[in-house]
Amino acid sequence: MDFKLSDDNIRLQKLFRDFVKNEIEPEADRIDKEEAFPSAIIKKAAELGFMGTPFPEKYGGAGLTETAYCLLNEEVAYSSATVGTVIGAHIGIASNSIFFGGNEEQKIKYLTELASGRKLGAFALTEPTAGSDAAGIRTKAARRDGGFVINGSKIWITNGAVADIIVVYADLAKSDKGRGGITAFIVESSFPGFSVGSIEKHMGIRGSSTAELVFEDMKVPEENMLGVEGGGFSVAMKALDYGRLGLGAGCVGMSRRCLDMSVDFARERVQFGKPILRQQAIQFKLAEMATQIEAARLMVYQCAWMADEGMKITKQSAMVKLFCSQVANRCAYEAVQIHGGMGYMTDFPVERFYRDTRVTEIYEGTSEIQKMVIAMQLERERRR
Ligand SMILES: Cc1cc2nc3c(=O)[nH]c(=O)nc-3n(C[C@H](O)[C@H](O)[C@H](O)COP(=O)(O)OP(=O)(O)OC[C@H]3O[C@@H](n4cnc5c(N)ncnc54)[C@H](O)[C@@H]3O)c2cc1C
Repeated sequence: MDFKLSDDNIRLQKLFRDFVKNEIEPEADRIDKEEAFPSAIIKKAAELGFMGTPFPEKYGGAGLTETAYCLLNEEVAYSSATVGTVIGAHIGIASNSIFFGGNEEQKIKYLTELASGRKLGAFALTEPTAGSDAAGIRTKAARRDGGFVINGSKIWITNGAVADIIVVYADLAKSDKGRGGITAFIVESSFPGFSVGSIEKHMGIRGSSTAELVFEDMKVPEENMLGVEGGGFSVAMKALDYGRLGLGAGCVGMSRRCLDMSVDFARERVQFGKPILRQQAIQFKLAEMATQIEAARLMVYQCAWMADEGMKITKQSAMVKLFCSQVANRCAYEAVQIHGGMGYMTDFPVERFYRDTRVTEIYEGTSEIQKMVIAMQLERERRR
């Protein structure tokens, strides 16, 4: 066992930290307050090759590992969960759908554009009647004129209003077999019949674009079907395995930030004649936060190592997502408590982190769904 990052990863971590310090941190509060999509930061990330961190160079990526991608997510979310969400949707679930589900031509044509950062991606699965029960989608695809036509709508799609390439999951109507009929399609936002509907306002990650997507007789060429007919559900689940890992890394970054802010504040804030850091009640909170972060971080990097070794990560990444999002929420809660009234004021980032961490227990599968995934894997393991 080796618990040390490799020299290459230490160098990358420094590179990511510098990028975050110089490009994201000065903008993070403004992005939240103005609910501004971080276009300039994403452009800069693309120039640096970060928008395709884990993908092979032949597909426009940086040719790095999942471990490196987790390091990026951890550092980015330390400063801005909004930027972490934009990158997570682009790499973790949109680009990974094409990487795992696509054929060579699709990877050359679409993954290259995404991984190079020339185009932005989105992953469109959720619908008004299909959230946790994703197999219940009603968006229909039908064969027509040698290609497909898609009708329906998606809700709450991250990057939805700004993405150029969207992986859309639809039911290939003739089959009507629940998850058996779900098929993935690569859609360009310029396709006739595609439009962006309502754009949501939300509690946290306020700079990220969360949109409704509408498909009205949207024509999709035959060659844009991703994977096999009826194979969409497994493409989505494989992408989500990797998305959840990256998201867990982001949660570690957010938790670390909550702890750092809390230690700094507790050292400075004097009540009852001494810094509150000298009060055992505060020390215990900090100690709990630090211990949980340590455990969360180990889980993330063990799972990243498994991914880099080509091992199946379904159970592990669900555990990572479940645990790390809970840790992030607990750390944000305690950070507000340690800051007292100051933690409640919008002038300080603690309040932003409190709002931003909440969604991590909801998107890419709620905590309840992660427990179902873990339990299903446990059952499978015993059956073998
Ligand atoms: C900010 C944001 C961004 C998002 N981005 C995307 C995106 O890019 N692409 C995309 O496709 N989707 C996206 N989503 C959707 C997200 O994945 C769903 O919100 C999530 O999967 C939960 O679905 P739901 O909200 O419909 O909740 P529901 O499924 O209605 O669940 C409601 C509650 O019931 C619980 N529940 C449901 N079923 C069970 C069960 N069997 N057992 C126990 N408890 C259960 C849930 O855990 C939850 O607590 C986003 C959501 C948000 C909030």
